[in-house]
Amino acid sequence: MYIGRFAPSPTGELHFGSLLAALASYLDANKNNGLWLLRIDDLDPPREQPGATEKIIDTLDQYGFHWDRDIVLQSQSHQHYQQALNQLIKARACYPCQCSRKEIIERTGHTQYDQHCLFTPVTKEKNISYRFKSTGKTVQWLDSIQGIQSSSEHPLNDFVLKRRDQLWAYQLAVAVDDHRMGVTHVVRGYDLLAESVNQLALITALNLQPINFAHIPVIKNLNGQKLSKQSYAPALTSKDVNYNLLLALDLLGQSVDKKLLTANKSEILQQAIVNWDIKRIPLEFSTLMT
Ligand code: GLU
Ligand code: ZN
Repeated sequence: MYIGRFAPSPTGELHFGSLLAALASYLDANKNNGLWLLRIDDLDPPREQPGATEKIIDTLDQYGFHWDRDIVLQSQSHQHYQQALNQLIKARACYPCQCSRKEIIERTGHTQYDQHCLFTPVTKEKNISYRFKSTGKTVQWLDSIQGIQSSSEHPLNDFVLKRRDQLWAYQLAVAVDDHRMGVTHVVRGYDLLAESVNQLALITALNLQPINFAHIPVIKNLNGQKLSKQSYAPALTSKDVNYNLLLALDLLGQSVDKKLLTANKSEILQQAIVNWDIKRIPLEFSTLMT
């Protein structure tokens, strides 16, 4: 059974880049007679915006998306992350670290972690993070859009599982939650490719079922910046729903019938499911958005 999902972080409202990821994952799940689940990645309260979760849900509804099952909230899943961390501690697949970012940069000249605390006992009692102990093995997968992918560039990548401020790191949460939700297929932006390497490393370490990844290209603005909250991408509004859906389909390489501009949005989505072909997604988006 195919289970896909969309997992926005409530750090702001959805923008056109989010619509591309939501749409691609939604259409792929429905085309494969699968389920499409919605998870809110509310892991990082300091970065979240009040009301963003409600707005995201509202916007998805306005664009005609239907999610199967109840919405999953990462803020309600902390005990599952702790269980996974305990499992990794027991398996010696992670270790505590007391280094601050500043100390790592001072020591190494960059931010790539040097495994200092793997060899030096931790003496601090507070502000301890936990890091994954990488095996040095390359992580490889066949991406449904990008083709064969390999992590060989950074074999030693002891990424953080629990942060110094005691918040859970996205890398651990996403691996645990995708597993708990029974997710089999993840369709998301190319900007998360490095996270997929980490997720697959954790899947192996935690003995979870493998996931099929597909990374869609990232849409950029005229300055070449990725559309994001940081680059002030405008929020999706309920005004141009049909236009935005058809534009997103066009960018994703799918056939678009302009007559649908005046149709009901559910008709656009229905037709898009019927015509969906993941192989037609380009490796880069040619159109630039303002
Ligand atoms: N919540 C994260 C984001 O919005 C990750 C989403 C994902 O894993 O698909 O960037
Ligand atoms: Zn350290």
